[in-house]
Amino acid sequence: MQANASLLHPSKEALFYTKNHDHSIVCELCPRNCKVPHGGHGYCRVRVNRNGRYFSIVYNRPCAIHLDPIEKKPLFHVYPGTKAYSLGTVGCNLHCKFCQNWDIAQANPEEIPVPLKSPEAIAEAAFRQDARLLAFTYNEPTVFYEYMIDCAKAAAQRGIESVVISNGYMNDAPMKHLLPNVKAVKIDLKSFSPSFYRDICDGNRDPVLKTLKTIADAGTWLEIVCLLIPSLNDKDDEIQRLAAWVLKELGPNVPIHFTRYQPLYQLRNLPPTPAETLNRARQLAIKAGCRFVYTGNVPGLPGEDTPCYSCGKLLIRRYGYLIRENLIRDNRCPACHTIVPGIW
Ligand code: SF4
Repeated sequence: MQANASLLHPSKEALFYTKNHDHSIVCELCPRNCKVPHGGHGYCRVRVNRNGRYFSIVYNRPCAIHLDPIEKKPLFHVYPGTKAYSLGTVGCNLHCKFCQNWDIAQANPEEIPVPLKSPEAIAEAAFRQDARLLAFTYNEPTVFYEYMIDCAKAAAQRGIESVVISNGYMNDAPMKHLLPNVKAVKIDLKSFSPSFYRDICDGNRDPVLKTLKTIADAGTWLEIVCLLIPSLNDKDDEIQRLAAWVLKELGPNVPIHFTRYQPLYQLRNLPPTPAETLNRARQLAIKAGCRFVYTGNVPGLPGEDTPCYSCGKLLIRRYGYLIRENLIRDNRCPACHTIVPGIW
């Protein structure tokens, strides 16, 4: 694609690309593997080819920064009750018709002017605001990969760990390169159906499954979110197949969050997800053998809490993003002393 993005000065050479003799490049960061001619940009619109060299144009350019509860990511088994200094840029490597952050994820970089913030400035701001974590979120962090890694390294120097909130649409080599720099990853598994990924997200399902296995195999803490959209990905059969796959390939300790869809972007004709759909999905995954299954975006449902999978004692009580009670001590259930998987 030819680039309007050329309006922005490219600030950092990209990682993971190969050069061709004709000054085109192939970006190897995500499964799209965009071939980009000189003067063009990739599908995500935030990486541009200048005379056969590939650059990120969102490096140093976060367009959204907030101090969020870690529960909002959601990561329920990572330092409950702490704050994550959260940032994102414009751009995405999928095009989901239901995008919940479409105003930045589907924007062009030159449409949203932002002040420049170096990784050191981000780390300093996170430190000053007493953030326990740095979170890469809001849009897809894959597309600001170089900035993400440098911010994570700068934050680590200040004793702040990093978490990634991603669609999982990243190639294996960059994911393996990223993981030593982060403490936990949340992946949106948008559906278990390949046709959903193709027709609703303009992507493919299998690279996301591969990413999930890579993260689990690396031993990095992993949680999964499934946004349930009425009539599109909420059938019992699909949820059962998804839960069975998670159980077999990732194990019973990976939390799954079934969350409510709000009508946005190009799918406004569908209603919000009924609470009973979330409860039903949760019960199906528990029945399949998953130990930590949550509901989200509907405060007050029983699926917000964390019980001990061994004795059933209620360990963490939540309401929305609030922690009402946390009884976990030394990583264990206080009643039966079973270790509770997570980062406490
Ligand atoms: S990260 Fe962007 S440019 Fe690179 S392959 Fe993916 S969509 Fe294309």
